[in-house]
Amino acid sequence: MAGAEGRSEPSRSVRGWSGSTEVRPTPEARPSVDGKAGATVSGGGTARSSRRNGAGGKSKSGAGTPEPANVVLGHEIGGDTALTSFGLWLGGPADFHVRSLSDPPRVILDLPETQFRLAEGAGREGKGLIEAFRFGLIEAGKSRVVIDTTGPVRVTRAELILAQAGEAFRLEIELAPTTAGEMAGAELAEAALNLKPMIPDPKPMPRIELPARPVIVVDAGHGGIDSGASGSRIAEKDLVLAVAQHVERALKEARAYDVVMTRTKDVFVSLDERVAIARAHNADLFVSVHADSLASREAARSVRGATVYTLADQATDELTRQEADKENAVDLLAGLPVSTAADDQVRDILLDLMRRETSIFSGQFRESLISELRTGVLLSRDPRRSGPFKVLRQPSSPAVLVELGYISNVEDERIMMKPQWQSKVAAAVAHAVREHFQQRLAQRR
Ligand SMILES: [Zn+2]
Repeated sequence: MAGAEGRSEPSRSVRGWSGSTEVRPTPEARPSVDGKAGATVSGGGTARSSRRNGAGGKSKSGAGTPEPANVVLGHEIGGDTALTSFGLWLGGPADFHVRSLSDPPRVILDLPETQFRLAEGAGREGKGLIEAFRFGLIEAGKSRVVIDTTGPVRVTRAELILAQAGEAFRLEIELAPTTAGEMAGAELAEAALNLKPMIPDPKPMPRIELPARPVIVVDAGHGGIDSGASGSRIAEKDLVLAVAQHVERALKEARAYDVVMTRTKDVFVSLDERVAIARAHNADLFVSVHADSLASREAARSVRGATVYTLADQATDELTRQEADKENAVDLLAGLPVSTAADDQVRDILLDLMRRETSIFSGQFRESLISELRTGVLLSRDPRRSGPFKVLRQPSSPAVLVELGYISNVEDERIMMKPQWQSKVAAAVAHAVREHFQQRLAQRR
């Protein structure tokens, strides 16, 4: 592979790295690329004049036949566990962006849509701080290299070294060990930096308007190829659809709301689609309906009752964490591309800014719902919990996720399958919804 045999001493000129990238053109190449071929420059990174790094010196892309710009011709990993370098030979200059993610530790290199002409098996083995790397198209127009590291690392350098005629361009990333805490901090700083342009007007906190006819989105969990939890007689997807339809009827009977269902039949709907439906309808309240199950037979025998969850970055307890993992895994199960943890992190921070008000309302609705349910439905031992449920990540709509009970428990399952029980739950939801909007109206005055 052209250029892949080039070896270089990793640079020792380690500087502080804030997650931004910079271009260091060679003097002879600079005029033609200035301001155009630049990497994603953020956090004050600037195009600087050159230090000719010997790295790409021997690499070629074949004299006289320039390679297409967006192609990776080869790679090289050098150095050791004190300082590891990762190099890619590119057919031409490319915008790139490098950042690190802490859990699990990895470094993300984003490129425009790029063709990877790497040898079979490339990336399976690493060296130094690099365990392995993966590469490919992440979405139309965007390619990504994910470098898995052996532990927390700091990006000490990331630069595109522009080539002289007949040479390939070399993208170099240099990694040094760091602590987990520092890596997490860098990740947050980077995410915050990227957020700025996404917030239209940082001054006023988004006020949540209360329309005359609130829109309630009722979300029956799972569906289609995703059955959810399974009991001995019923699958979660069927049970929750039946309950959601009871809720829909009860709310429509109140004649005060517009009711939107995320599904009305046995069909798969991704978590993102559910959130998008709520957004498209300007939901004023989002209620997701699920049923729990426990794998442990012993626990399944004794653990029962309904729980109402709100969104939190961290699960309130281990059980909630497992529950959130299960509920969040459905897209994976359906073979959908799942957004990366990085995207989630960015989204989380954006949500943090926008959801203070919605999270207060979510908490209020949870309280109303629990007290309504309490009158006729068995509650779990700790019915108020919160966790990182993806479907609850909605900046503008208060949202809760109800686990109706445990279909892993024979008694719970039997009760939950009864239409009378289902309409009792629906009535409780409808009462709680009414109380919730009354509260919100009162708070507005
Ligand atoms: Zn579920």
